[in-house]
Amino acid sequence: MPDLPPPSLRLELDTQALAANWRALDGLSGTARAGAAVKADGYGLGAGAVAKTLKDAGAHDFFVAHWSEVADVVHHVDPAQIAVLHGPVRPQDVHYARAIGVKPVINSVEQAQRWREGGGGPCDLMVDTGINRLGVSLRDLGDGAIAALDVDILMSHLASADENSALNPLQLERFQAACAALPARRRSLANSAGIGLGRDYAFDLTRPGLSLYGGVPRGELADHVLQVAFPQAAVIQVRTLSPGDSVGYNATFTARAEMRTGIVSLGYADGFLRCRGPAGALRFEGAELPLLGKVSMDMVVVDLTAAPQVKEGDWLDVPFALPETARARGLSQYELLTTLGRRFRR
Ligand SMILES: *Cc1c(COP(=O)(O)O)cnc(C)c1O
Repeated sequence: MPDLPPPSLRLELDTQALAANWRALDGLSGTARAGAAVKADGYGLGAGAVAKTLKDAGAHDFFVAHWSEVADVVHHVDPAQIAVLHGPVRPQDVHYARAIGVKPVINSVEQAQRWREGGGGPCDLMVDTGINRLGVSLRDLGDGAIAALDVDILMSHLASADENSALNPLQLERFQAACAALPARRRSLANSAGIGLGRDYAFDLTRPGLSLYGGVPRGELADHVLQVAFPQAAVIQVRTLSPGDSVGYNATFTARAEMRTGIVSLGYADGFLRCRGPAGALRFEGAELPLLGKVSMDMVVVDLTAAPQVKEGDWLDVPFALPETARARGLSQYELLTTLGRRFRR
């Protein structure tokens, strides 16, 4: 087989910025250490590369959601430092955890029993303090199956840490009660936004995800977080429109004068959703190239007036400063990261 030609989409991961973000969040966590949420393929950036960089930066505790996400991380990190948030729902999950040596996060009394029946061992425990998603209730902490667990990290998850909600101090108070009721080696409450709520929320370990990757969920973090992901897309054709020519599906843009356009290898299948057009733009050496017409599955068209030197094969920058892009496009910063498609070479 001949070598594959080079890709027309690439995603540069600034590993120095990623490491700097972890160090900054670790510092903001005070006496607590920062761990790292690397679920969803490292928030779309590639779990293996992300885990390796964060481990080298000093991170010790790694969190994935699915059992299937362990494989990429365990390549770089000691399995005992990996926790699986979705928990041991099926007997096969228990077997896998014990065979590999990763920790399940126990989310219910049933899971605690299943873990113990399967042989047990160190695990983490999620307690629900108000998000009403995964986790045992405060009331269940007295259950024999929970009391019998060998709990490394006792954790809970904040529902509204990105806003100044009364739910934050309420969850803090409930988590303190959980800590008093159940012995554990370490305690952990804050995600990225929770770190911004201050030291009271940090306990022994924080669990940032979003802000490691450049996301800013609270103003307190804005000066500490660097952009990490830099997507680029190649121009695959250049064409000149005549006055009256329309562009793309449903002809939503029509040229008034002659204009040079670039057809770019980037579409909604790559996570560049339709809400990116029509007011959006790509960039070439800082010049703004407005999008013309609708975003297609594999292509967008840009106005090359501001960069007449652009030719086939040139790379355009996809704006990816997360807080600004999310605000402008009505998407969450999480969605921007995790919808980056598989066609980007990472
Ligand atoms: C995803 C997740 C995190 C990380 O949250 P961010 O908002 O991305 O910082 C932390 N803890 C749990 C339980 C999670 O599911």
